[in-house]
Amino acid sequence: MPDTKPSVVKPADKMEYLHDPILNKGTCFTEVERDALGLRGLLPPRVCTPESQARRAYGNFQSQLTDLDKYIFMSLLQDRNQTLYYKLVMDHIIEMMPIIYTPTVGQACQEFGHIFRKSRGLYLTKADKGRFADIMRNWPHKDVRVIVVTDGERILGLGDLGADGMGIPIGKLALYTACAGVHPEFCLPITLDFGTNNEELLNDPLYIGVSEKRVRGEEYDALIEEFVQAVTEVFGNCLLQWEDFANINAFRLLHNYRDRICTFDDDIQGTGAVALSGLYSAMRMTGGKLSDQKILFLGAGEAGIGIADIICSAMMAEGLTSEQAHGNCWFVDSKGLVVASRKDKLAEHKLPFAHEHPEVPDFESAVETLRPTAIIGVSGMPQTFTEKVVRNMAEYNDRPIVFALSNPTSKAECTAEQAYGWTGGKAIFASGSPFDPVEIDGRRHVPGQGNNAYIFPGVGLGVIAADATRVTDDMFFTAAKKLADLVEQKDLDEGCCYPPLTRIREVSEHIAVAVAEIAYADGLAQAPRPDDMGALIREMMYQPVYPDYI
Ligand code: NAD
Repeated sequence: MPDTKPSVVKPADKMEYLHDPILNKGTCFTEVERDALGLRGLLPPRVCTPESQARRAYGNFQSQLTDLDKYIFMSLLQDRNQTLYYKLVMDHIIEMMPIIYTPTVGQACQEFGHIFRKSRGLYLTKADKGRFADIMRNWPHKDVRVIVVTDGERILGLGDLGADGMGIPIGKLALYTACAGVHPEFCLPITLDFGTNNEELLNDPLYIGVSEKRVRGEEYDALIEEFVQAVTEVFGNCLLQWEDFANINAFRLLHNYRDRICTFDDDIQGTGAVALSGLYSAMRMTGGKLSDQKILFLGAGEAGIGIADIICSAMMAEGLTSEQAHGNCWFVDSKGLVVASRKDKLAEHKLPFAHEHPEVPDFESAVETLRPTAIIGVSGMPQTFTEKVVRNMAEYNDRPIVFALSNPTSKAECTAEQAYGWTGGKAIFASGSPFDPVEIDGRRHVPGQGNNAYIFPGVGLGVIAADATRVTDDMFFTAAKKLADLVEQKDLDEGCCYPPLTRIREVSEHIAVAVAEIAYADGLAQAPRPDDMGALIREMMYQPVYPDYI
């Protein structure tokens, strides 16, 4: 059985107790530790409790003027004192999540080269070809269980940010720890800096990456292949999460590697699961059946296809044929309604959803023509759920489902206020980035945040606990159902499709247990089966508590 916790290594130099973020306790080193470790006099005399130390840090966090300042403050804290960082994130998850992840992480990536302070994670470039495994061995922690990797080409809905996209793997891994308790030392963020086509970055002297155009074609695929082999060689069966790759690569990479190694693509599979879960909650609000829904997507990329694929599986589980299920899902992309007559010009991932239908030029007309019960925005195009679209949805449906999932907030297809306002509060609304509750005619509406953080950390923890060799669609389907089951009636009464983020550790624990059970049932688990899966998962979950050194 793999260890449930990383082993603690005693540092050779006492100063490491102060300078290594994993070991550092700051003002919380006890009197006994200060004498025994030779730290006496190197710290202010007063020994703080973790609570008073956290109160001070939180006060400093709150005094930062902008969200980007708060992001920088938290990054520096992560580099200084890991325990305190996670205590703050976990104690104030609702406030911290939009800072350490979307939307603020988007702005941080856009300005990454300018706000850069200290390196975190691993960078691999085209020039390192042939040496990827050697470079991975430079990573100081040997027991890596989860890698989040990006090539920075499609950062949130912000496009190609090259090596500046490193904020995303760092942020996602912080969520693995904060939301599911995956130990921070098991986590490795990697950026594959294979160039950028972003002219602004190529001309920016402060850009942190290689100032070259992107590698494409066979050369790119060969670099990826070397990367995957190096991961396996150096870290063995570790979970590899593909993150924010452009869709020209994302679908192919998932297809090429999902049956070879333990891997998934969060933009495709994680998004699919969280959106499906939101739809299950919406069905509890409307009393309808998923298989009776007609769903129109705006945007036919990774997120859209990922969501539609899992919805089709869910509809088939309710008794539809594959043809019927696919027939309930429609797409509008940048060229209009995706229809069969456009077949030869369509990317492969769109073909199962290209139905026989006359061409329709845009989203507004597609809504009028198809009269869907749900619209899901995953286009990265802001304000495309226009007043006309949303009002029409309310005319066709008692409770129209409006999911504006594009990130960050600036890219959302419509705001919560617009969705509720234009429908007189009838809309069941969810978004990718958070929106505040909205009051209409004295009634409070709470927008659900379809945040992938409800899904991937729990799935990852379950995979790690079982030491599973593969990540399957069934694991995501089960995670979606588990998440929906955890939504309480009081959440639904306020129109919210998801449990509050304050319950995220509990959600992740339930998902992890269910995912690990699937790994054992499907013969994918390498770890010996524990007597009590829940107890093992709880035992594995990291808590931000200082160790006693003496
Ligand atoms: P992608 O690049 O793979 O796909 C975007 C799609 O939108 C493409 O098919 C593109 O052709 C289409 N598109 C672009 N302009 C359009 C227009 N004017 N009209 C119609 N379609 C248009 O990106 P993705 O991974 O699918 O992500 C899309 C968005 O969804 C991003 O903003 C991302 O942040 C968001 N997202 C949200 C969540 C979540 O809420 N949990 C998860 C993943 C992605």
